Amino acid sequence: MDAFENAQKQLLKAIKAGGLDENDLEFLKNPKRAVHVNFPVKLDDGSTKYFKGFRMLYNDTRGPGKGGIRFHQDVNESEVKALSFWMTVKNSVVDLPLGGGKGGVIINPKNYSERELENVARGFIRALHQVIGPKQDVPAPDVYTTPQIMSWMLDEYETITGKHNEGLITGKPLELGGSKARGYSTAMGGAYVLKESAELLDFNPITTRVVIQGFGNAGMHMARILSKWNYKIIAISDSSTGIYDENGIDISKAIEFKNKNKSLKGFGPEEISNEKLLSFETEILVPAALENTITKDNADNIKAKLIIELANGPITPEADEILEKKDIIVIPDVLANAGGVTVSYFEWVQNNQGYYWTEEEVLERLEQKMINSFKEIHEIVKEKDVSYREAAFILALKRLITANKLRGK
Ligand code: NAD
Repeated sequence: MDAFENAQKQLLKAIKAGGLDENDLEFLKNPKRAVHVNFPVKLDDGSTKYFKGFRMLYNDTRGPGKGGIRFHQDVNESEVKALSFWMTVKNSVVDLPLGGGKGGVIINPKNYSERELENVARGFIRALHQVIGPKQDVPAPDVYTTPQIMSWMLDEYETITGKHNEGLITGKPLELGGSKARGYSTAMGGAYVLKESAELLDFNPITTRVVIQGFGNAGMHMARILSKWNYKIIAISDSSTGIYDENGIDISKAIEFKNKNKSLKGFGPEEISNEKLLSFETEILVPAALENTITKDNADNIKAKLIIELANGPITPEADEILEKKDIIVIPDVLANAGGVTVSYFEWVQNNQGYYWTEEEVLERLEQKMINSFKEIHEIVKEKDVSYREAAFILALKRLITANKLRGK
């Protein structure tokens, strides 16, 4: 299914589950502003190539747009539209005073030199500078965009506007106004939510088994944090292999191995397939790899009692229904991985006030935001007897409707 059709389906399901009035949500059926650009970039051989890109401001009723920019050969309009819709929902779920946006450039970054990528980053900002800004729409990194790319984008914007404007973009290096803890904020936020939901289920960390799919930024930090909290991580995986140890994996050794070898292959003691990993007897499963890894074909094999969606969209809508019938609790991506955008928001706040917080201050505020949002969603789950995903959407949509009405629209 097309990504935007999928997003619309989720919207309609939440309207029904929450007893909301569809007319109040007309403003969320399409993006407020969709910009297409075609911009020139000088390549190393002296030639000029034109690249296509998009920036969608899905909605800014609750504040300036916020969402990443990805550099990928498969970027397309429907995907960017859907991602900007989900950012609108996610930012409202955790009650950030921000709307939702997303952008992308159609490019395979592996085919270009560092200098050419800098020219792409700068060219994209020259094409877009009129529609982005600290009080308009605030980009961030996403797939294959890095703190270095954010730095070039900021520099280009400041050169055009002739002013310092650190709040233009988040995910910057610390030296250019980045926030402490941003590097592991997605996993940290997910861990706070995992702990709250595990407590509700009376899981004691020492006897609670955890399986983590994906060992990149999100999955690796999640494993590190949970092992520090004494959870028993029995299986992890990356795209090359899965690792299983019923006695619990030594996560610091696994991180050392992965950083050295760029893969988990050969770490031992027992290698397993990613399909097998999903079907283990475990209390908690954390999908932290890609979208659509849990589908109608494997959802029936899942034995976890609690799933924390650290990845974006790891469960297809059909699989979601199967898991619901099996009484497996799913904490949805719009809450579980919102720690990343929350610390991005903190970065923007620090830029706007020109005063920077300590790592402890960032973490304390993140914990408060994540736990409060979890509790609000849990109340809706109890009151309306809906899933956590439906409850998160209902909470977010109600906030958006209220803000829209207050604006007289
Ligand atoms: P990443 O590229 O750092 O890591 C992805 C990991 O998944 C890698 O270890 C890769 O080997 C593994 N992987 C790929 N295909 C796999 C497969 N079929 N089976 C098992 N493992 C596989 O990416 P990331 O930043 O960790 O992001 C992971 C997910 O989390 C994505 O869905 C992303 O959208 C979401 N997310 C990340 C952030 C963030 O701040 N990093 C924020 C919000 C959401």
